Amino acid sequence: MKTRIGILGYGNLGRGIESAIRQSEDLELVAVFTRRDPKTVKIHTEQVPVVALSEALDWKDKIDVMVLCGGSATDLPTQTPEYARHFTVINSFDTHAKIPAHFEEVDRAAKESGHLAIISLGWDPGLFSLNRMMSTAILPQGKNYTFWGKGVSQGHSDAVRRIAGVLDARQYTIPVDSAMTRIRGGEQPAFTAREMHKREVFVVAVEGADRAVIEAEIKNMPNYFADYDTEVHFITADEMREKHAELPHGGFVIRSGVTGFDGGHRELIEYSVKLDSNPEFTGAVLAAYARAAHRLAAEGQQGCKTIFDIAPAYLSPLSAEDLRAQLL
Ligand code: NAP
Repeated sequence: MKTRIGILGYGNLGRGIESAIRQSEDLELVAVFTRRDPKTVKIHTEQVPVVALSEALDWKDKIDVMVLCGGSATDLPTQTPEYARHFTVINSFDTHAKIPAHFEEVDRAAKESGHLAIISLGWDPGLFSLNRMMSTAILPQGKNYTFWGKGVSQGHSDAVRRIAGVLDARQYTIPVDSAMTRIRGGEQPAFTAREMHKREVFVVAVEGADRAVIEAEIKNMPNYFADYDTEVHFITADEMREKHAELPHGGFVIRSGVTGFDGGHRELIEYSVKLDSNPEFTGAVLAAYARAAHRLAAEGQQGCKTIFDIAPAYLSPLSAEDLRAQLL
């Protein structure tokens, strides 16, 4: 039996999960839902309808898992509890500080209606969270480090685009190599933000705009840039299109710990991803967890869960016997 999937919201991530579904024979895309006029939204899978979001509830019996692909800032906080009342839902909500409150809201909606929801899936939060959790449980005496990049940060790119005189911008977050080398060597330093990451910004400026003023405004922007070493490059719109159209990303989760009666042995756990496409990879993670959500809902599980609660075997299309024989 295939898992019938609906995609709610069709941006980068919506396209990412659409491509991931094609790579799995047991997953089937049933419909894409959008707040825009469906006629204006073109998807890659010709035989699948694009439907107005206002009609989503008519699809309750035709969809096993609704994958919510809206933005974390304003879409997911309202859409997730709303649709958890009617469907099994999963999302990639990534505002770390707000996850506990989001969990409570979704949990209430899902429990009241008897549905299952899994929130904050992807790679961070998501696979990185799982690795932080497991390595902390395994090495209680130690320290966690998470590095992001090299990759495009949409939030930082948007912040630069809002500066007067900026037409377009792309921001790359880059881990500082020397910091990773020290941790891999067994040290457990207390780093500042600046010591762990640097930032590189490519800007297309309005003709005649004062570049020095734009550069200063970027470098001094609180929270986003002021605490980091930032390089700013001014480029043409053509260069932006040719060299910076993709959304690569990646990162490292490292736990440096000690074992032994006198804590004398150093142990290092490292997990990393290097991604040509952040939304396609995040979509691939969501596809595997859609399979898990369908199975868990079929078992009668209800309420909100996170990646910590899902046993790994639920992600795989392989049977338990095949998993033991091939991958254990
Ligand atoms: P996005 O492209 O901006 O899409 C967000 C929503 O905006 C879509 O669902 C869509 O809703 C609407 N939209 C998209 N293109 C549009 C257009 N041309 N005109 C008007 N509306 C448009 O955002 P995204 O890159 O897919 O990312 C979604 C979220 O995923 C992010 O906010 C981030 O929090 C999360 N994320 C998480 C992880 C992780 O590791 N956990 C990784 C990557 C991303 P409608 O179709 O309803 O209009």
